[in-house]
Amino acid sequence: MDALAAVDPQIAALIAQEDARQRATLRLIPSENYASAAVMAATGSSLTNKYSEGYAGRRYYQGQGLIDQVERLAIERACALFGAEHANVQPYSGSPANLAVYLGLLQPGDTILSLSLPHGGHLTHGWKVTISGRFFNVFQYGVRPDDHRIDMDEVARLARAHRPRLIVCGASAYPRIIDFAAFAEIAREVGALLLADIAHIAGLVAGGAHPSPVPVADVVTTTTHKTLRGPRGGMILCKAEHAKAIDGGVFPGLQGGPHNHTTAAIAVALHEAATPAFRAYAHQVVENARVLADRLASHGLDLVSGGTDNHLILLDVSKKGLSGKVVARALEGAGIVTNANSVPFDTRKPFDPSGVRLGTPAITSRGMGPDEMRRLADWMAGIIADPTDTALQARTCAEVEALCAHFPAPGL
Ligand SMILES: *Cc1c(COP(=O)(O)O)cnc(C)c1O
Repeated sequence: MDALAAVDPQIAALIAQEDARQRATLRLIPSENYASAAVMAATGSSLTNKYSEGYAGRRYYQGQGLIDQVERLAIERACALFGAEHANVQPYSGSPANLAVYLGLLQPGDTILSLSLPHGGHLTHGWKVTISGRFFNVFQYGVRPDDHRIDMDEVARLARAHRPRLIVCGASAYPRIIDFAAFAEIAREVGALLLADIAHIAGLVAGGAHPSPVPVADVVTTTTHKTLRGPRGGMILCKAEHAKAIDGGVFPGLQGGPHNHTTAAIAVALHEAATPAFRAYAHQVVENARVLADRLASHGLDLVSGGTDNHLILLDVSKKGLSGKVVARALEGAGIVTNANSVPFDTRKPFDPSGVRLGTPAITSRGMGPDEMRRLADWMAGIIADPTDTALQARTCAEVEALCAHFPAPGL
């Protein structure tokens, strides 16, 4: 950081301020986390200087002896941790990982069946404005209106009616367990391939706090920076029979040179995720989310699906006559950082939706537990009761900062 400050004081100052913000606020965005100092060290290493198009033992440029060892280690650790037959650790992030799978397994115009964005799915699962929505014939399932659980009867009905080549399951805003085995059975019945996108829950799966799709899905994609707590990146796990198609989809299909510094940091994160401490972390993330959800509900707040089984909570603030943006802004004023999010059957626009999405991965990485969750819920309920009360926000912000001082953020 001294070298950076000497060359570019403006950027150095902005990073220092961002470090301070990340220390002093409660990071509740459920897709965010704190990468460890070890992961950060690998990310900031000399491996960023090397070009390595191709795969270990089959590269286009010289000088790959050590890079090959790094990538092989990352692959071995990914396969061991998740019990996968094959892993590709080169995707630049979760979105390119999904795109590489489509490219490797599908033809343009093929039919995909996936969870719709407003019901918790991800843009890259075929939403209209994205490349996946434009190049493929997409049908989407949703959650039931009464209990907000994925409607497996609808999945089966749509699968039989449209005979998709690929069924996609996995979500960005779904607080419940995903029944991967039920998806696999429907896929088998209609002759579809199954892709499970575990971007959000990979750390929970690795730590045994959510069922794994790896035994039943043809392909599993994930980011490496959410609950898995690695660097920003992506990863694809698959059955051996799909290995060639998947690798070809990533390179040369979609990407050029892999980000070797990220590959090294993914290897480090996978090493950390294989420890008993990480298993305990994954279970604590879920326990903290449950305690937080229960306490929020006890304040009369409306939780999509009534609660959570994973790391994520979706609040519906529409019955209070509020929008998600208004609430998210008020919470940020109190040092509690969340994001506005659509809720199922939302009547408001996506840019100013009815929900607020939050989760416990990052605050659990700081070592917070049930006592802190209850305090947090009480603060949140107070802020939401009157989002215009800026004096309360300022008072709460000071209390939040005092709490944060007792729970150092890893990696900073
Ligand atoms: C976050 C996410 C992605 C995309 O990851 P990026 O790294 O942001 O490209 C893909 N799928 C799901 C389900 C996600 O939650």
